[in-house]
Amino acid sequence: MSDLLAQIDTTGIRGALQPGYDLTGLTWFRVGGPAELLFQPADEADLAVFMGRVPAGVPITVIGLGSNLLVREGGIPGVTIRLSARGFGQVESVAPNRLRAGAAVPDKKLAEAALAAGLGGFAFYFGIPGGIGGALRMNAGANGGETRERVVEVRAVDRQGRLHTLTNADMGYAYRGSSAPADLIFTSALFEGVPAPEDEIRAAMAAVTAHREAAQPIRSRTGGSTFKNPAGHSAWKLIDAAGCRGLRVGDAQVSEMHCNFLINLGAATAHDVESLGETVRARVYEATGERLEWEIKRFGHFAPGREILPFHGLI
Ligand SMILES: Cc1cc2nc3c(=O)[nH]c(=O)nc-3n(C[C@H](O)[C@H](O)[C@H](O)COP(=O)(O)OP(=O)(O)OC[C@H]3O[C@@H](n4cnc5c(N)ncnc54)[C@H](O)[C@@H]3O)c2cc1C
Repeated sequence: MSDLLAQIDTTGIRGALQPGYDLTGLTWFRVGGPAELLFQPADEADLAVFMGRVPAGVPITVIGLGSNLLVREGGIPGVTIRLSARGFGQVESVAPNRLRAGAAVPDKKLAEAALAAGLGGFAFYFGIPGGIGGALRMNAGANGGETRERVVEVRAVDRQGRLHTLTNADMGYAYRGSSAPADLIFTSALFEGVPAPEDEIRAAMAAVTAHREAAQPIRSRTGGSTFKNPAGHSAWKLIDAAGCRGLRVGDAQVSEMHCNFLINLGAATAHDVESLGETVRARVYEATGERLEWEIKRFGHFAPGREILPFHGLI
């Protein structure tokens, strides 16, 4: 049993608690390390009780479907929380033009529910491989739409286990991010769309799929867009201009198809992927003077002796 598990009163907790759980299989990159303790709550009430019992000072990290995530080999200390599809995977029509979705609902499923409800404005979700929790935190968007345009309010649990309801303004949305307090775990959200004809929604979803098939390595092990677009620039153009298309570190490669995607060719490690990312940042800085910022979230410790400096220490 992990020492950490012994420090938490788990009486009555209904979710799954797994010490030392290898997170590799829970990320799209298929690289990673262990969670000191993985907790998958049964439902929102279970999550709230558990959060209230985690001793202060023990870090808590939440992960979604792992499509924007790099877990380092040294693993994530403290508690890692992943919301279960059973407790957080429902989507329902709750009022005219409105849908409520649990935070473990895949974005694609929300797009399909909107189609069934005759609501436009959700087609962009059809091509994003994450879940609603990640979309709420990242302000996920594509094909001209983004999460902040659809969110009415968000339910969340804080570090002490208290429930909160945040308005759209409370979420503090910006490009690929939210300034909502970092300790909040989003549990569900209310979304609003605009009535639209079924064939129009279907056409928008088909256009999203066609664009992805043509432009992104969607069948590869990847984390999606690696770096944010610097103001006035496309990250992929800067990466291309710096000569990084196809660049490799071990089995990690800058996608030939889309330069802002890093892919695991099969046997890459988290160290390979992050080292490649920092090499790209250093080369782009040298070639263009632009500082790329990671969009992908990197969680956990480096394995001992395998630390990687930002920009490889260039700046
Ligand atoms: C092939 C591919 C294509 C992609 N295309 C796009 C795209 O077009 N547009 C786009 O925006 N993104 C894209 N992404 C990135 C990714 O799908 C999105 O960022 C997505 O919203 C992440 O959701 P997730 O559930 O996978 O979250 P994760 O990757 O697991 O986590 C991402 C962040 O969300 C936080 N988080 C997750 N769940 C919760 C929760 N319940 N409460 C609070 N915080 C939470 C995590 O702590 C972390 O900070 C793509 C990724 C891939 C692999």
